[in-house]
Amino acid sequence: MKVQGFYINGQWQQPNSKNTFTTINPATEAIIDEIPAGNAQDIDSAVKAARAAFDHGPWPKMTGAERGEYLQKMADIINARLDELSKLEVLDNGKPYPEAKWDIEDTAGTFEFYANLAKELDDGNSEDVIALSEPGFSSKAIKEPLGVAGAIIPWNFPMLMAAWKVAPALAAGCTMVLKPSEITPLTAIALGEIAIEAGLPAGVLNIVTGLGVDAGQALVDHPDIDKLAFTGSVPTGAKIMANAAKDIKNISLELGGKSPLVIFEDTDIEKAVEWIMFGIFWNQGQVCSATSRVLVAEELYPALLARLKTEAEKITLGSGNEEGVLLGPLVNQTQYQKVLAAINRGIEEGASLVSGGKKPPALEQGYYLEPTILTDMEEDSWIWQEEIFGPVVCVKPFKTEQQAIDMANNSRFGLAAAVMSKDNERCERVAKAFRAGIVWINCSQPTFVEAPWGGYKQSGIGRELGKWGLNNYLETKQITRFDSDEPWGWYIK
Ligand code: NAD
Repeated sequence: MKVQGFYINGQWQQPNSKNTFTTINPATEAIIDEIPAGNAQDIDSAVKAARAAFDHGPWPKMTGAERGEYLQKMADIINARLDELSKLEVLDNGKPYPEAKWDIEDTAGTFEFYANLAKELDDGNSEDVIALSEPGFSSKAIKEPLGVAGAIIPWNFPMLMAAWKVAPALAAGCTMVLKPSEITPLTAIALGEIAIEAGLPAGVLNIVTGLGVDAGQALVDHPDIDKLAFTGSVPTGAKIMANAAKDIKNISLELGGKSPLVIFEDTDIEKAVEWIMFGIFWNQGQVCSATSRVLVAEELYPALLARLKTEAEKITLGSGNEEGVLLGPLVNQTQYQKVLAAINRGIEEGASLVSGGKKPPALEQGYYLEPTILTDMEEDSWIWQEEIFGPVVCVKPFKTEQQAIDMANNSRFGLAAAVMSKDNERCERVAKAFRAGIVWINCSQPTFVEAPWGGYKQSGIGRELGKWGLNNYLETKQITRFDSDEPWGWYIK
């Protein structure tokens, strides 16, 4: 793939900024490419294009079905480029190829889902007739595109996170400026190529690569942005929220988590171990909803821990392109150092290391870290409470259902939670008691484009995916009509 500048106003535009940043292959530590680092003027060009496309272009006025056709074309192109885009994601992010392929399939699936949902906007689904108590008036509420949206996304699911924002925003009739993560910009740049091939009208989607403190900040501060959709860490989310408050921008935030999985004594150990491992080792644990706190009924605890250790130590680590690899490198040196420091801090503060905790000796080059299991930490300890964002699981026993619920909810985060038991009523009861936006029963992590995604507490504001994701980009307008021929008669009798 050739990096040609920024995708602005339907074409590749040369950067105003002369700065660049490097993107690296985390499996080898080698530089892949120098990428243009957009500045405030580059962001301004992109916002101007998006503003003009929204205020004067055809996009918001088209029918949903017409917009859906463009989204479907984008889905088809992504599917046609599946293998190449998956390889690009492995190169930039490090994840194993089957996971990258799943991400890209989901990316196409997200465009396809919103292509279909856009059509439903034409079927009266964007209009509600309101029954008024006052005779002589009639009223309806209609949904309209919110305006120009700015999207800022992280590096853990680079193309999929772009799709979670671009597809619903465009389906709703908004126009958008996307700023991908500076750690994994490559598939977002490919999205520019895909938009060109799909013939998307100029200015509807604009993509500017760059650093958070420059391009990201400029997007947040831009007065012509109506909505900011952010996915990333809590500290950045808090900054964005504070800055957006200055001119009351509409915001949605998808932030971090420290998600619990509660395993009751009647759970099959093999199934429990499988879902724990999928929950914490998939994508190297760099997942906002990762199963990072596991609570196990004390009767099951010793046997489960032993089985988990055995299975975790069997995981094949290596480059994401190698056959049979289930755990790739962490995304970069900073993330690797951060996760290693977190493990060491946990141990210094009293946790016991059951397995992993270091770089595998055979993999000198690349940001590899063994699957890591920690126990014996205090409930208020840093390692139990804070997001690590790596292949590190903390395991603790519990005695009663109420204790498990209290421990699960004792967190400033509330993104996801999971429960496993053969007792359906117990699962339903615990699912309702969790203070989290996403709850899994007898599994952990599978994510579906049809279902709402988002967190309670410090894990965020708003919901993505499904019809909730579309609503993120719609305004509600009341239209009230005076139907009577009688005079109103307040001033003029
Ligand atoms: P991050 O907050 O460091 O960066 C996210 C994005 O924000 C990047 O594009 C970055 O360039 C930009 N940014 C940084 N500073 C900025 C600023 N001052 N103004 C504007 N933009 C700025 O997060 P990350 O390390 O890329 O991602 C990991 C985090 O994302 C984790 O906390 C994870 O839990 C969270 N996450 C959440 C979800 C979810 O759906 N809830 C999904 C994926 C990741």
